[in-house]
Amino acid sequence: MNLHLPPFERAALLFDLDGTLLDIAPRPDAVVVPPGLTEALMLARRRLDDAVAVVTGRPVETVDALLGNAIYAVAGEHGGALRRTPGSSLERPHLPSPPAAWIAAAERLAALHPGTLFEPKARGFALHYRAAPELGPTLRDALQRMLAGSSEFELLPAHMLWEVRPRGVDKGNAVERLMESPPFLGRMPVFIGDDVTDEDGIAAAKALGGVGLRVQDAFGDAAGVRTWLAALATKGDWPLI
Ligand SMILES: [Mg+2]
Repeated sequence: MNLHLPPFERAALLFDLDGTLLDIAPRPDAVVVPPGLTEALMLARRRLDDAVAVVTGRPVETVDALLGNAIYAVAGEHGGALRRTPGSSLERPHLPSPPAAWIAAAERLAALHPGTLFEPKARGFALHYRAAPELGPTLRDALQRMLAGSSEFELLPAHMLWEVRPRGVDKGNAVERLMESPPFLGRMPVFIGDDVTDEDGIAAAKALGGVGLRVQDAFGDAAGVRTWLAALATKGDWPLI
């Protein structure tokens, strides 16, 4: 497959986390870092002068706990939090927090429906329904009623979850901000993601002269992404797909 990738030595790699680097797990806290992944990421960092980032809906702290210093920069919470260099403090754009009443109501919803899970985030929250897929529409309807008339927050679909977050925070914005500073500055982003929220990241990478790839189209699944990553890290150039 011809992916129209930029010259390897001028590229930056930006990965979504769940479903892209890691296999999707039944619960968000049950993901597993497969053997060899952190080593391949570290080697890719060396090959690309550190221009390796993760752009995810998860908190930056979660990415750091899972992958440690294998990732140079992390945009967490869809760009609501940014760590530009290893160990640096988080940058946060000024964003509203959801009303306490919404959080209480979302927690009640999860308690009421076995198989669903409430996940708090710094500037929003998510309701997961992987263990009870039939409840997706019920949760969506309740959240839509909750958010009706709000100009500050929006409801977003993802893999077996609904997410409430401030408007104007998305992975496209996160990609643009990451690419503003070294070691990403002057490179061409290769953004890889598997989900609805990754479409913004794909569009931003293209607008910046780079490439945006859907996991399903280019690699099949997260295991395919990891195989490709390991090959490019070893080779120091794009592997043939
Ligand atoms: Mg994903």
